[in-house]
Amino acid sequence: MKLSDENEIRSFLEREGFTFKKKLGQNFLVDGTVAPRMAAAAADENTGVIEIGPGAGVLTRELSYVAKRVVAIEIDEKLRPILEKTLGDRKNAEVIFADVLKTDLRAVINGRLSDCEKITVCANLPYYITSPVILKLLRENLPVKSITVMVQKEAADRICAAVGSRSAGAITAVINYYAEARPLFFVPKTAFLPEPKVDSEVITLNLRKEPPVKVADEEFFFKVVNACFMLRRKTAVNSVSSALSLDKETVKAALLKIGADENARGETFSMDVLAKLSEELRYGK
Ligand code: SAM
Repeated sequence: MKLSDENEIRSFLEREGFTFKKKLGQNFLVDGTVAPRMAAAAADENTGVIEIGPGAGVLTRELSYVAKRVVAIEIDEKLRPILEKTLGDRKNAEVIFADVLKTDLRAVINGRLSDCEKITVCANLPYYITSPVILKLLRENLPVKSITVMVQKEAADRICAAVGSRSAGAITAVINYYAEARPLFFVPKTAFLPEPKVDSEVITLNLRKEPPVKVADEEFFFKVVNACFMLRRKTAVNSVSSALSLDKETVKAALLKIGADENARGETFSMDVLAKLSEELRYGK
């Protein structure tokens, strides 16, 4: 069976009694060109790949042709009989039925993928948990080389924006701390069954060896980043003081001390300014 053929996959899923669950972000790929491109970008014969949300297995299968091993994590038990049929002959691919947000990924890497030289993540992400999944992957400091994921076009634009630019958000700076993000290719909504309301894009996050800025307290740095973006169109002084319950004079003094404009808006700050502001608010006198 051709997993990316819309009619074939539709009648196969119908025969299996499967119905799509919107709340699980179930939009399956039916454009045969997309999964091979994602797999080629994410893996080679030495790679162990973690896939999130295999669905009917279209990307999992492609990954299994290129990678050494694939472990896919799927929340929907209803897909078990389907995946047994579509992946049964792929001996280097296995599926764990679990919620990825509750899965110990380090244990997966150290166990099932322990014979792989390098580890990557590849997924057509369920969009309702795009940010939590990416942040989990980054913040757990897993030994992952890259993350190649399909996300909504709007999310891709935000994640790949330059920190300090108009399109950036707090997520841009947080991801930038861990990884270099770049867009790979556009995928129209017509590539999915059922068709979603919006287009998508495949992006790659290449994990950094070292963060681009040095901060002594990462948790506090992320609080400051979020605080800078909390009240958009307001000055950093207003946004940060309100988000962190600090008085305005303290924030103003910190900005002056680090040589930043006291009237600037937080979303215009570079990584360097964000880091200096965080250090000054945390450790300055
Ligand atoms: N990879 C398939 C494809 O490209 O056709 C399916 C992608 S679909 C956008 C997202 C998949 O993620 C669905 O199979 C859905 O059931 C699964 N999923 C949703 N929430 C999940 C979670 N918390 N943990 C693991 N899988 C999840």
